[in-house]
Amino acid sequence: MGGKDSISKRFQALTFGLARRLMLVFSALIIVFVAAVITINMQTQRGQLLEHLEHSADHLVSLSQEVSIPYILENNPADLEVFFQEVGSRSDVERLFLVDPQRWLLVSGGDVDMQFLSLVTDPLIEQVLETRAPQHVYADRAVHVAAPLIVGNSVLGVLRLDYSQKDLASKMNAVLLNNLMAGCVFLLVGLAFSRMVAGRLSRPLIELTQTVRCAADGDLDAEISLKSNDEFAQLGTTFNTMMHNLKNSMYEIHRVAYEDKVTGVPNRSWLNNQLEHLALHYTQSDTGFAVMFLDLDKFKAVNDTHGHHVGDLLLRGFSRRLARCMREQGLTLLSVDSDERHLADVENNEAVLARLGGDEFTLIVPSDKADALATHIVAEMARPFKVDGCQLSNTTSIGIALFPTHATSREHLLKCADVAMYQAKRSGRNTHRYYDHSTHTRLIERSALERDLELAVEQDSFEMFLQPQFGVQSDEVVGAEALIRWERPSKGRLAPDTFLPVAASMGLLPKIGQLMVRKAIEAAARINRTRTETLAIAVNVTIEELNEEGFADMVKHWLDLYEANPRTLEIEITEHTAMEESVLVERQVAELREIGVRFAIDDFGMGYSNLGRLKTLAFETLKIDRSLVTGVGEDPASESLLLTILDMAKAIEADVVAEGIETAEQLAFLRATGCDYYQGYYSGKPMPAAMFTRWVASQSKDSTQPDNTRQQLAS
Ligand code: C2E
Ligand code: CA
Ligand code: CA
Repeated sequence: MGGKDSISKRFQALTFGLARRLMLVFSALIIVFVAAVITINMQTQRGQLLEHLEHSADHLVSLSQEVSIPYILENNPADLEVFFQEVGSRSDVERLFLVDPQRWLLVSGGDVDMQFLSLVTDPLIEQVLETRAPQHVYADRAVHVAAPLIVGNSVLGVLRLDYSQKDLASKMNAVLLNNLMAGCVFLLVGLAFSRMVAGRLSRPLIELTQTVRCAADGDLDAEISLKSNDEFAQLGTTFNTMMHNLKNSMYEIHRVAYEDKVTGVPNRSWLNNQLEHLALHYTQSDTGFAVMFLDLDKFKAVNDTHGHHVGDLLLRGFSRRLARCMREQGLTLLSVDSDERHLADVENNEAVLARLGGDEFTLIVPSDKADALATHIVAEMARPFKVDGCQLSNTTSIGIALFPTHATSREHLLKCADVAMYQAKRSGRNTHRYYDHSTHTRLIERSALERDLELAVEQDSFEMFLQPQFGVQSDEVVGAEALIRWERPSKGRLAPDTFLPVAASMGLLPKIGQLMVRKAIEAAARINRTRTETLAIAVNVTIEELNEEGFADMVKHWLDLYEANPRTLEIEITEHTAMEESVLVERQVAELREIGVRFAIDDFGMGYSNLGRLKTLAFETLKIDRSLVTGVGEDPASESLLLTILDMAKAIEADVVAEGIETAEQLAFLRATGCDYYQGYYSGKPMPAAMFTRWVASQSKDSTQPDNTRQQLAS
């Protein structure tokens, strides 16, 4: 750009300078010419005036000669006196006198202050006597003439005249004035003419320069139209051809840069340009526009199953159907052929369809058309696509963000539309959703939670809490359940319900499970090292963990590593997991049971378990869900349900642990029913593993004060 600028500036200087220089040269020539003409003219006119003066003097001299000669021959010069006086009195005669060849003054007229017969010394007279020819001398607007009076061969005398014309000076001045005036007029006309000629000569160059400058400023439509038939016109034609080629190249570059190769619709860069400018343009106006974000549902599966060729054809078909839907809603689509600076005039139903990449498309449409268009598109996309002999059913999910309601910047608008699309996908796909701020906030919170969880798994930021389990009759601690806690940065300690479901959806459960199982085994080994009566540590394990190849090996490895008795480890699985008919799960459970690891069915009474299968599994423990205990002491129906469940548990012949005992009444009820063990806030809340270890140690030394301990623990 800098290069172009300097070129156009140089051109400007050249053209403007050229006109000026041409004018200066022409003006100088005209001034010299006018001066020369005036000088010559004045010389000529002055010469004519002097010639006229000389002519008049000569005429007077010859008249005087004619008159004088007879008188001189008669030797009667005195009679000439009258004639000389008369001639001498004329205003143009300064003096007139006649001398004889011996230079004696014979007669005079005019202003002569010499006496008759006085000797006259005059150089002119001397010359005449020598040459016998008339002599002229010019002096200050006068002519001095001397002429001989010759009869035959002899000189009778010399006539001497000083002749001047009084108006010669004013005549000379008039000549000067006239010439100056004529010169001025001529000069003015000449200058105007030179200006015109200079302008004419430099005009094509100025036009060339200006056009080149426009082209340099980016106007590719700049064209030179010179009608002349010279080099300038040729240059203009060459320039126009060059611009034409340049325009074609620019257009091709523009198309390659802004058109999506697969679908032929504008690409992300072009869309970004549009959005950037629209967002600026519409800040001043009341009306807004909608940005729609579309995604082909299950597109990845098409690529994976049918290959990228079919995927590309599907994208093409999808974009074509989109364009048709838009036209059917009365919208005019902008293409990359449109002028680069042309902004979608959404107020007049101009719209944009662009492919962002992958299976993502974006539309810019008038806000009031968005809803109907989205409904139309969703309905149209429900029809299968016939691509390369395949019938493909790929619906679409659409997110809509409104400018300026939802966002005012390009990035933010696209983000909002993307989030809305995600919301549409979450609500079952094949539909459209407007951006919703509260859902977005939840999404943001969730993704922050996901990030933190990933880090927590990497760094093992999880803690193990242990909740004691007691014998219903003895009220002695017999075991503990390992419960996970997470110290989330800046959020404090979190209970599992707040993060385990998210971890499950992220597929992190196996990793978290590994960490917890290891902690549980380590605690079981440590706590039982000094005990005579073993105490089992129960750990919760999900189906995902059990379905991981190598789970059993891992447990065995840690049991070995910490030298823990397999009987001190109990694995709690839910009824649901227990019912899972997976070969891998069954094999790993069998492997672990074989070495003595205990298994418990958690939350018993919640599902619809197949009692027969439960009986064949013959797990060591059944844990009655807390929800079945809560009604005890308040609601006879709940009590009878609990009794039924307990009967069922007994039929399975497993140890029964009732969960969630919070009151003495509930405990008393359990005692009356003959339930084996219990767990609950009434006797012990979950506590950090270290605290539990200390508490169990003190418990075995001081087992005579169970009530105090219970109060301490429950607080
Ligand atoms: P769960 O296995 O049924 O664990 C018992 C839950 O009941 C624990 O909640 C415990 O604190 C709570 N609880 C015990 N006694 C009482 C009581 O008297 N009253 C009340 N209201 N609640 C009582 P927690 O620790 O929040 O755990 C919730 C669930 O999270 C557990 O239910 C379990 O399914 C899961 N979980 C906990 N730790 C782990 C773990 O390490 N791995 C896996 N996979 N899941 C775990
Ligand atoms: Ca449990
Ligand atoms: Ca439970």
